[in-house]
Amino acid sequence: MEELVFEFNKQLNQELRNAYLYLSIASFFAEHNLSGFENYFLVQAREETEHAMKFYKFITERGWRVELLEIPAPQSNFDSPLRAAEAFLNTEKENTLRIWRLYDLAKQRGDKAAEVFLQWFINEQVEEEKSAMELYAKVKMINNNTAALLALDSALAMRK
Ligand code: MG
Repeated sequence: MEELVFEFNKQLNQELRNAYLYLSIASFFAEHNLSGFENYFLVQAREETEHAMKFYKFITERGWRVELLEIPAPQSNFDSPLRAAEAFLNTEKENTLRIWRLYDLAKQRGDKAAEVFLQWFINEQVEEEKSAMELYAKVKMINNNTAALLALDSALAMRK
């Protein structure tokens, strides 16, 4: 399999791995009765599966071969809301670098369609990192203040 095709398949897999991690984070918050946080991460998990489907669609439209790779069990112990928010932030930062590397490879191969396709993801990652940074900063500010934690939980319940 050509390297660019393989890397596209790997990114399809990575988006699903990220969805799996966010489901795990959602369930951590469900266990702690923070249903607003749970909702926020369920929406995030759904978005990641949508990202995976964009890769699936592009791979098939190009007449490339879809190769579904293994998805290991995600992290499931987060100790605190702050550690969970940190896992989210680190995952999105890593994902940005993966997309950038994939973009560089597409350019190197002279694949214009892949380049244009990946530009959407480059922009999307700016938004994803902003959301993750904001959530992490807010959870950090809360610093064991239960009233503030519950207020943020109520706000996060609104995400659709
Ligand atoms: Mg994504």
